[in-house]
Amino acid sequence: MRSADVVVIGGGVIGLSIAYCLSREGVTVTVLDRDGLGRGASWAGAGMIPPHVERLKTNPTIELRSWSAVLYPEWSQALLAETGIDNGYRKTGGVDVGLDLSEDNELKTSAGRWRNEKIVYERLEPRDFGRVEPALNPELRVAYYLPDRAQIRNPRHLKALIEALRGREVDLRPGSAVLGFESISGRVTGVKLESETLACGQVIVSAGAWTSGLLAGLGVEVPTPPLKGQIVLLRSDRPLIRRIVEHGKNYLVPRDDGRVLVGATEEDAGFDNRTTAEAVRDLLAEAHKICPILATAGIERSWAGLRPGSIDSKPYLGFAPGFANLIVATGHKRAGLQLAPASAEVITDLALGRPSRVDLSPYRLDRETGEPADPTFRS
Ligand SMILES: Cc1cc2nc3c(=O)[nH]c(=O)nc-3n(C[C@H](O)[C@H](O)[C@H](O)COP(=O)(O)OP(=O)(O)OC[C@H]3O[C@@H](n4cnc5c(N)ncnc54)[C@H](O)[C@@H]3O)c2cc1C
Repeated sequence: MRSADVVVIGGGVIGLSIAYCLSREGVTVTVLDRDGLGRGASWAGAGMIPPHVERLKTNPTIELRSWSAVLYPEWSQALLAETGIDNGYRKTGGVDVGLDLSEDNELKTSAGRWRNEKIVYERLEPRDFGRVEPALNPELRVAYYLPDRAQIRNPRHLKALIEALRGREVDLRPGSAVLGFESISGRVTGVKLESETLACGQVIVSAGAWTSGLLAGLGVEVPTPPLKGQIVLLRSDRPLIRRIVEHGKNYLVPRDDGRVLVGATEEDAGFDNRTTAEAVRDLLAEAHKICPILATAGIERSWAGLRPGSIDSKPYLGFAPGFANLIVATGHKRAGLQLAPASAEVITDLALGRPSRVDLSPYRLDRETGEPADPTFRS
């Protein structure tokens, strides 16, 4: 048997970010992924980051979200310095739009939450749209401008994380499917691969929507229902929109180079991640309704990803009940990219036996289903 201090199972944004933090602390880490690294939901996402500019300790949900948002520019700079890869972190600002009175009222409720979370926003009537996002349909009823909304280009962010880990000589093993575990008296002693069993000090499972199936063999119950999301990528020779535009669960994310991501569906389709004509049609219709100029863009491609769900839309961040060295980090659903840095920091605390810097009780695996996650900035 070969041995690592920590074996991370799943090389999505969560597993890679955890390995990034642990390797900084001098821990010997192995990352296993049955496919390529960073090819799951993390690649498929849109990369929207909430507009926090300070870490707030109001409650664990807001703290995880705001701390992550504050860490993103720091991580982006550090990754650039370490790897030369620009992950595309940009504070492009965003607008949340409402079509009618009922959506206007919902946005007023959101604005109350933003105010409590010290997020800067401005209410825009249609006559003001041109100043902030000229591409908005003037027939929309209202838009709220959030200047601190940010984005990363998640495929580039993943590439930067992988390069940084390679530079730190982390043992990266794509194409290594974990088949099961060996355990004795509440400790995992080995991680079974097809051709060998890896001995380990700690195991961290960040296998996204597949976590539930993987841990069932150990008797650990951690529901991670897949929630399919489809995106259409548009392309134009010149930028057609400037800001991230959100309308309920739909959004438009403009990249620097004229591309625009149109997302995203929420579908209960098991592990089927094929795109469908119906979803593409609906996403394009929505894009056209909100920013009519997008009708002139070309369609580059479409894709789907499987977001890892949980019992209440909050992530699981903690030890598996009954195991002293098995940690689970998944279930981030629509917010895994935005929550990755702080999630990685707190999992590093757990793995090193340090007091956690965030209260992790709402994220315990054996929690009761409580209040569903706050929908603010769900991505
Ligand atoms: C369309 C869409 C848009 C999104 N937009 C955003 C957004 O704007 N902002 C945001 O914050 N979030 C967004 N998300 C959500 C975000 O992408 C996910 O929450 C996040 O990527 C989950 O990361 P993960 O590392 O847990 O899972 P994944 O990226 O799925 O990684 C899990 C990895 O585990 C591996 N694995 C599974 N089983 C095994 C095994 N047995 N052995 C070894 N490896 C295994 C898989 O191959 C995979 O690589 C979006 C998601 C989608 C689909």
